[in-house]
This record gives sequence, C-alpha cells and structure tokens, in this order.
Amino acid sequence: MRAPLATLPFWATALWLPVAVAAPAEPDWAAAGAETARLLSAYLQVDTTAPPGGELAGARHLAEVLAADGILAEVDEFAPGRANLVARLPARRPSGAGAVCLLSHIDVVTAVPARWDHPPLSGHIDADGVVWGRGALDMKGMGAVELEVLLLLARQGVELDRDVVLLAVADEEVDNQGILRAISRWEQIGCTHAVNEGGVGIQDMFFEGQVVFPISVGEKGYVWGQVVAEGEPGHGSTPIPDRAPERLVRAWEALAAHDPKPHWDPALITLLDAVGAQRGGLPGFILQRPALVRLLLRRKLMGNPLTRAVLTDTIHVTGFSGAEMPNVVPAEVRANVDARILPGTTPDQHIAVINELLDDLEGVRFELRSTTPGGSSPVDDPFYAALAAQLEAEGAQIAVGPAISPGFTDSIHLRRIGVHAYGLVPFILTEEELRTMHGDNERVSTTNLERGVRVLYRALIALAGPK
Ligand SMILES: [Zn+2]
Repeated sequence: MRAPLATLPFWATALWLPVAVAAPAEPDWAAAGAETARLLSAYLQVDTTAPPGGELAGARHLAEVLAADGILAEVDEFAPGRANLVARLPARRPSGAGAVCLLSHIDVVTAVPARWDHPPLSGHIDADGVVWGRGALDMKGMGAVELEVLLLLARQGVELDRDVVLLAVADEEVDNQGILRAISRWEQIGCTHAVNEGGVGIQDMFFEGQVVFPISVGEKGYVWGQVVAEGEPGHGSTPIPDRAPERLVRAWEALAAHDPKPHWDPALITLLDAVGAQRGGLPGFILQRPALVRLLLRRKLMGNPLTRAVLTDTIHVTGFSGAEMPNVVPAEVRANVDARILPGTTPDQHIAVINELLDDLEGVRFELRSTTPGGSSPVDDPFYAALAAQLEAEGAQIAVGPAISPGFTDSIHLRRIGVHAYGLVPFILTEEELRTMHGDNERVSTTNLERGVRVLYRALIALAGPK
C-alpha cells in the first residue's frame, strides 16, 4: 500500500504528486454502470436459448457493439448457428506477458415465461435500475461487464503491458463445444490467464452483515455412468426375489452408504481464514485456526449438502430407466450416476470406490459413460491477487478467499491446457437472487453491474497497467 501523504515529508509529496497526475484518469463509474445496464438489456433480448443455442446472433450482436467503438472482432462460426466471438485489445507497451481472457458464454438455459414478472427475453430495466432476463446472472451479465471493461480500456487509452481478449463462447450449458473450439486454436488467442463465471459475493453467507466472495480457483471433475442391474425377466403377477429391479435398489443403497472423509483443501482453509479475519471475535479466532476448524466445524460442514459437496468426492444416483410396463419384470434396469471428484482424486481412483461399493452385489455392474478430472489454478498468482484486492477495496464488510467449486464451467477445460482460470462474477447477491440462476425472474441491479465493471477494470490496471 502507498504511504498516506500526511506521513511523508513535504519534498516527497512534491515528487509523488506528478506521478499520480500522469496515471490515467478513472472512468465515470456511474455512467459506466448505466451503459452496462443498457448493453445487457440489448444482449438479453438476443435469443440464445440452448438448445439450440443460436449463439451466432449473440456473437454478431457483440461484434456490432464493439465495431461502434472501432474495435474489430472475429465471429467464429464453427457449426451452423453456433459461434464464438474473439476481440483483442493489443498491448500498447508489450512486456511479453501472456494475454488475459475475459471469458463468458453466450448461451442461456430455457425459461418458462408465464412464471416471470418481466419476460425472460425482455431485457426490461425497472425503475430501480434492475435488468431482467434469462442470463442476467448466468452469464450475459458478466459478459456485458467484460464488454464494458474492454470498451473503457480502449476509450481511456490505457497503456497495458499485455493483450486483453474478450472471449464469448457458445454451448457452455450443454456440451462445451465453444470453449473446446477456442482451445483448438489457442495459439492465436494466447491467454495465460482468464476470468470466467464462478464465485459471486454472497450476502450473509456465514455471518450477518458480512459479504463473502469466494473466487473459484478450482473445480471438481466428474465420473458419469450407469449402474446396470440384470436378472431373470418374468411376469409381474408373481413376485420372485432377486430380479433386476430389486438388485438395482440394493445397488442404490450400497452407493448411498458411501461415507467419504472430508478433504480439507488449502483453498477452503484460506477462505475460512479470510472470513475469520474480517469477522473478528471468537468465531474469527476459530476460523483462523485450521486445527480448530477441523475439530469444531466438521459436523456442521459435513451435515450441509452444499459444503459436504465441497469437502468430499461424491456419488449421486440421479435417475432410473429400463422398466416400461407394470406387469413385466425387465431383464435389465439402469440408474444414472453423477459422481464428482475433487482436484487430486483421479477418475480411476473414484471408479474403484464405486466398484468396491457394488462388489458384493450379484448381477450389478458400473458402466462408465465419460469422465474428466478436476483441476485448480494457483492462489499465488498476480491476477488472483489483483482481483482479490479490488474486491476487498469495495467495502470493509467483504471477505475474499479462494474456493473449489462443486460444479464445473468452461474453466475446467482451460486449466487442462495450463491457463490460470479464476471464477468470479463481482456481484453481491442474496440467496434469493442466487436461486434465480436457471430459475424464475433472473435479474441483476445496475449497482452490481457498476461494481463488476469497477472491480474488473481496476484489477486489470493493477495487473497490466502503467506501474
Ligand atoms: Zn454459466
């Protein structure tokens, strides 16, 4: 931190001032927030609901906005109607450092318009400056923030030492084809770092009045497959034990009995430390001591499904198939399994756990569909540090720390090729607002959009701006 002026002798003040004047002036944040709300409103009105996605229309829309500011963008249509957008702001003082990607996805999930107060494709801005529409949070809102930041960096003529790339991709919600396409030509994109969806600021997450910003530094991988149970088929009129459906129920019970030990990832310990440091008092004392956390919070954290998913490798039976008629006992029935693994657990290790749980059961086997290991990016990284510092600067009630996400995003693929990817949407949300993601009445306030632009812009200046 720079020493306050009052503590410096007069001559030092005189030397210091001209440097400060030479630094680029900051944008008008209120105007930037209002512009972001307008950009988001228009973007939400472009229908990119997946399936089928239709991200070409979204990419073209973003390209038009950029063109109005004289920024060239590439629309990369890799399948009919499916496209990524790539726009590059070149470094004005290149240092050789790799580019930073501002990543978002263009597609949004479906919505049921009748359940919404303002239709999901309306982009309605209400009297309080709240922007309504499917994707306001997941994740056209962040896309609009990233777009605005690129526009501001260009307009302010900031002398960055590395390229900043706006990368908006298709198909995050279904098959990740967009990011995989971008990765197939990564030498042209050239990002060593990326910010993407992930953590958001959650009001009252651990303590009332406190906002916790987990920055997602890693994501769990997955093992997807089916448990198959086989047995002799027959007529429903005569119950005979040990047929396929009964075997499947036993398999389900065996998997449900899985009782994994918590894995205390260093990211979680660091996040709880930050929460404790902000909170202070006895809770703060405990949270800053990993041994006490493990001792006193284990039961609570393992008892809550959300935190349990963060602490463990999971096995989750998510559905059944195979039986059509009430009077027919089928020869084969199946259960879908969505198992998730922490970074550090290999898919093979977890498949072995699943097989072991099913080992004693006759006529039952696990069939693997697909798997991807989890991955993480370092916390000790200048981009992570810049994002965290700018979030903390937003208010004394804010605690910031790293986190491993139980779900995955496009970042899982970027980390596999060595990109340091950080999941952060710099909005402060209530739990009610969080539930609108993939739910009804998804919306975001102009205050949050303005905060998002300010945090991301300042973090990029801190990372790559004039020193
Ligand atoms: Zn998303």
